[in-house]
Amino acid sequence: EKRTEPLFTMKDIPAPHKIKEMLDEYVIGQDQAKRIISVAVYNHYKRIFLDKDKEGTRVDKSNILMIGPTGSGKTYLVKTLAKLLNVPLAIADATSLTEAGYIGDDIESVISKLLLSAGNDVERAECGIVFIDEIDKIARKGDNPSITRDVSGEGVQHALLKLLEGSIVNVPPKGGRKHPDQKYIEVNTEHILFIAGGAFDGIEQIIAKRMNRQAVGYNTSKETRVDDKNLLQYVTHKDLKDFGLIPEIIGRLPVLTYMNPLDESTLRMILTEPKNAIIKQYIKLFGMDDIALSFEEEALNFIVEKALEYKLGARGLRSLCESILTDAMFQLPGTEEKSLVVTRAYAQEKL
Ligand code: ADP
Repeated sequence: EKRTEPLFTMKDIPAPHKIKEMLDEYVIGQDQAKRIISVAVYNHYKRIFLDKDKEGTRVDKSNILMIGPTGSGKTYLVKTLAKLLNVPLAIADATSLTEAGYIGDDIESVISKLLLSAGNDVERAECGIVFIDEIDKIARKGDNPSITRDVSGEGVQHALLKLLEGSIVNVPPKGGRKHPDQKYIEVNTEHILFIAGGAFDGIEQIIAKRMNRQAVGYNTSKETRVDDKNLLQYVTHKDLKDFGLIPEIIGRLPVLTYMNPLDESTLRMILTEPKNAIIKQYIKLFGMDDIALSFEEEALNFIVEKALEYKLGARGLRSLCESILTDAMFQLPGTEEKSLVVTRAYAQEKL
């Protein structure tokens, strides 16, 4: 059936600083990324309303490219954003995508996922968000030795390009596989916000090389201080090209932002500060069995130390907590034991 009311209006889209405030409740740090994404998302939805008027200036699409180490919260940021805006979201891994005709998921499967996430409501899906992770892994081999994928990566880039540019995609209903004599559902990708993410391992060298060259050429004074521990903040579109992304893809992902690596104090905050912080979640779980769970400060520091040691970013935090608490989650429910204080010694023993 056809909708009579518009799906949403400009009033439903919070102002950029409001979007950022909402994100702040869940995502620790990453201020730059949150600001840039808040603006891009706001402009994106503005553009949709402008387009619906069919008159006047057309605003170009602001698809986003986010680069940052694994476990730095790229996926989490996008998921939080979609939830706060109440729009459907599909997450796909670029490495699993293939050109049509190859074995694997073809590019359209991404849109099929989005449709599923929109409860098969095409109009909702067409205003959704698609997150494509590991976009760096389909870069052309180029001079980058860390990339082992062959030229077919470029084929995927071209297929992806069609989605990013805006096209009508035929997807099988209910997320199924394509089938010759099936009725397809048409989805227009024109108003879908695409966010691509990747670690871009090795791009620091490209950035450093470019910056050194510049430093020699123009400005050797000490004024331009470079924070060489976090070179990602200086990334430009040119660096992405040198890394091996084709220029057309880069052009379709005009908003470029980066994620900071998570340091000790950020990891420590992630454990306890966000609205749905990991530690809060466990306290809630234990609370359902009337067990008061608490952590000594030193136990939390221990978890952070281990997460840094394993180099898994924030992703390590959850699995560490899980290992530490599994025994207790198995044994305590249904007993007289009504409290558990996790000390550093307890955490150490359980790991
Ligand atoms: P990436 O996509 O960059 O590899 P993820 O988004 O999967 O990283 O991050 C892993 C998990 O770490 C998330 O599910 C989230 O719980 C947590 N996390 C990462 N960064 C943050 C952050 N800045 N604030 C709060 N939690 C975070």
